[in-house]
Amino acid sequence: MDYPKILEEIKESLALEPKTGTVASYIPELAKISPNKFGMHLCCFEQGNFAFGDSRERFSIQSVSKVFSLTLAIQLLGNKVLERVGIEPSGDPFNSLILLENENGIPRNPLINSGALVIADILVEHLERPKEDFLNFVRKISGQSDIQFNKQVAQSEKDWGYRNAALVNLMKSFGNINGDIEEVLDFYFHQCALEMSCEELANTFMLYANHGKIFGTEEEILNTSQTKRLNAVMLACGFYDEAGEFSFKVGLPGKSGVGGGIAAIHPGNFSVAVWSPQLNEKGNSALGMLALELLTTKTGLSIF
Ligand code: GLN
Repeated sequence: MDYPKILEEIKESLALEPKTGTVASYIPELAKISPNKFGMHLCCFEQGNFAFGDSRERFSIQSVSKVFSLTLAIQLLGNKVLERVGIEPSGDPFNSLILLENENGIPRNPLINSGALVIADILVEHLERPKEDFLNFVRKISGQSDIQFNKQVAQSEKDWGYRNAALVNLMKSFGNINGDIEEVLDFYFHQCALEMSCEELANTFMLYANHGKIFGTEEEILNTSQTKRLNAVMLACGFYDEAGEFSFKVGLPGKSGVGGGIAAIHPGNFSVAVWSPQLNEKGNSALGMLALELLTTKTGLSIF
């Protein structure tokens, strides 16, 4: 596969695209990012790494972190995690409260805010030093020992986190949050405030393309069956109420965040991460989605 040529073509196509979308501003700290950033990093099993643009610059990974917290929760508790959170797409925005009332405080899936807050509750309960242990876990699976939470972003989320506070309170009223609300929110805001580059995200996501083993060291983090299930959840739920559109256009399991990042995988073939902070109305990176659509179209490598 001529990946250098394909990435060059993607880069050229994106340069011609009219800039649409807006940088997330409901977390004021995120609004400070230049809308024109763009990075892409592709990590292949056979042919190595290819990248362009701002692929080495760290950014706020936001909801992409939900995949890492879910991974750690599955590692700790296995299928028990799914007693408190479902695996179905919600068809609603990522921070919606609507379904929770009717569904007794059980979130549809772990990749929307309500579900990730339940996962945060599980981690707060089962980790000795939750934030530190989670950070060390991400450092381990990424192989990057200097990955950090951005404290200003975490604080900004806390200052404006009314909806997340509402979600966690509602779930607590149904008995689906065990821990202290402030502690669960603090963990969640820090988790979302992790900073990583496209290169680091793509390298880390190789885990999900590699049957749950860290690419390179081959250390097992999840078993094959757990990885299959997690990838299925990403495919069905990784893009909120745009999961169908992402499957339709791109055809890869993946996860987006309101920082403008998207990471996706093709099992046994590659992982890829893109970053462009301008979001479409569903909260997914507009150019990021287009770049991935071009990648799977030009390579013919979607999972379908
Ligand atoms: N921290 C963000 C929030 O809770 C994450 C949302 C996202 O990336 N979709 O609203």
